[in-house]
Amino acid sequence: MSGREMQYVQEAFDSNWIAPLGPNVTAFEQEFAAKVGAKHALALSAGTAAIHLALIHLGVGPGDEVIVSTLTFAASANPVVYQGAKPVFIDSERTSWNMDPDLLAETLARKARQGRLPKAVILVHLYGQTADIDRILAICNKYDIPLIEDAAEALGARYKGRSPGVFGKAGIFSFNGNKIITTSGGGMLVSDDAELIAHARKLATQARDPAPHYQHSEIGYNYRMSNVLAGIGRGQLQALDDRVRRKREIFESYRRALGDLPGIDFMPEAPWGLHTRWLTVITVDPNRFGATREDIRLALEAENIESRPLWKPMHLQPVFAGCEAVGGDVAESLFTRGLCLPSGTAMSQSDIDRVVGIIRSMR
Ligand SMILES: *Cc1c(COP(=O)(O)O)cnc(C)c1O
Repeated sequence: MSGREMQYVQEAFDSNWIAPLGPNVTAFEQEFAAKVGAKHALALSAGTAAIHLALIHLGVGPGDEVIVSTLTFAASANPVVYQGAKPVFIDSERTSWNMDPDLLAETLARKARQGRLPKAVILVHLYGQTADIDRILAICNKYDIPLIEDAAEALGARYKGRSPGVFGKAGIFSFNGNKIITTSGGGMLVSDDAELIAHARKLATQARDPAPHYQHSEIGYNYRMSNVLAGIGRGQLQALDDRVRRKREIFESYRRALGDLPGIDFMPEAPWGLHTRWLTVITVDPNRFGATREDIRLALEAENIESRPLWKPMHLQPVFAGCEAVGGDVAESLFTRGLCLPSGTAMSQSDIDRVVGIIRSMR
């Protein structure tokens, strides 16, 4: 926590606006929209809920297809299945590790020839870095397919000077406990489309029609953020720039200390933007380093230090076994060789030195 959260939480208690909604929710939405440069924002119980509502608004339903990046967390793809639709997974490129625009172009051209275009594209911005959004957006626009940006991991990043999440039809962010800022749990849907946000807002509050009694003409959800948690979010948002600075410092410390080791490489920073380094991610070439990614993970674990492999690609997940995948070798090799190092902003230099010392001692 930054220290400013309690003031807003206290305001919620003092005014008795505990739930539902209240002034912190409205203020958090406005402050967040201003921060990322979106016209409208909707505070929700989770980033996953934000993706789900965007898909409902876009009319995704049973039998439809939705394109999703394969190298991501399952929450990017699960809402597609909630809607009875089918994800189609696309491999990563090597510049940013995000969706490969060439594979997307090929896939949409093929599906257009078959007369069966997907209903939406969910583009993930991984580990604090954006995809090549302009190229992806141009391809989506050519076929008139709406783009949803999953920026859950990339709040604070930049693409050609602007925040991710504001280029497509809708963008989503997450305030889950592991993200760069947190409300303990929560998410945000942003869009320049007032109608999309108004519809999502209605769906998120059990789709209540404007009537004095309770009346419903569509199925709704209980997806709003509480006024107490929005107070935490307002305080956290003020700490975002410091967090990004500290995350990048931690990354630079690791790079200075490990960059000379043969077989250890760092996630690249693409030329089009600013990488927040939400997580410091390395890849390990066992032939050159002399140990595998898993050897390093276990050596750290033996010292009570947690590190994690990259997201296991969606096309390799048992639950998505029957889904179409385009390519997959890049994501698979990143998964096999990649390791997320401890990257918490509360880490001290001696914490970082301990991690570094263990990795260096393995050669
Ligand atoms: C965390 C995350 C989500 C889901 O956000 P929640 O707030 O946990 O529901 C979605 N996509 C990606 C890529 C994430 O990392």
